[in-house]
Amino acid sequence: MPENKKTRREVLRDGGRLLALAGAGAALGYAAGSGKKREYVWQLDPYKCIQCGKCATECVLEPSAVKCVHAFAMCGYCELCTGYFEPDAEKLDTAAENALCPTGAIKRSFVEDPYYAYVIDEALCVGCGKCVAGCAKFGNGSLFLQVRHDRCVNCNECAIAKKCPAQAFSRVPADQPYLLKQAAAKKSEPGKAE
Ligand code: SF4
Ligand code: SF4
Ligand code: SF4
Repeated sequence: MPENKKTRREVLRDGGRLLALAGAGAALGYAAGSGKKREYVWQLDPYKCIQCGKCATECVLEPSAVKCVHAFAMCGYCELCTGYFEPDAEKLDTAAENALCPTGAIKRSFVEDPYYAYVIDEALCVGCGKCVAGCAKFGNGSLFLQVRHDRCVNCNECAIAKKCPAQAFSRVPADQPYLLKQAAAKKSEPGKAE
């Protein structure tokens, strides 16, 4: 049995914490920014995004301020995760050649038979959206992109927004800076993470 084995309940709980952290990170960025009050920030609508790849290439930051977010509450914990594996993967293991993510930013770990957890290492994620497209094709759509406000410098004109072919970017209130998928948002409310 792998040493890092967690129960499904524990993984769901951690997912709730992750989403709560996302909000905390945003609040921190807001308070620790330029000192000026910002009323609106840029965010992308995950229901409009078509994973064109421009979130990885058009941001003024390198790597992009856009990262993949995982809504654990929506995830099927699939053994064959189409957001994790190349479509023609020879084996369902963690060898780099079988993984869809170009930077190795998705960590796969066994939970309990037949479930596996997928966690994003944001420091490695470049926001390319390949995993998001893979998950949306055959999975539950639990992987999606978001502008992370602990990185975004809130440009007057967002360079990605100008190039986004899906018009997925808009200004959102700075105190509600994330557009989470509905099930994820519901599960991230206090006391509802499990
Ligand atoms: S530029 Fe728009 S469509 Fe392309 S990945 Fe970003 S949000 Fe999605
Ligand atoms: S496939 Fe792209 S968007 Fe998904 S985790 Fe890897 S770098 Fe991030
Ligand atoms: S506002 Fe600027 S830093 Fe933020 S996502 Fe857009 S281009 Fe990147």
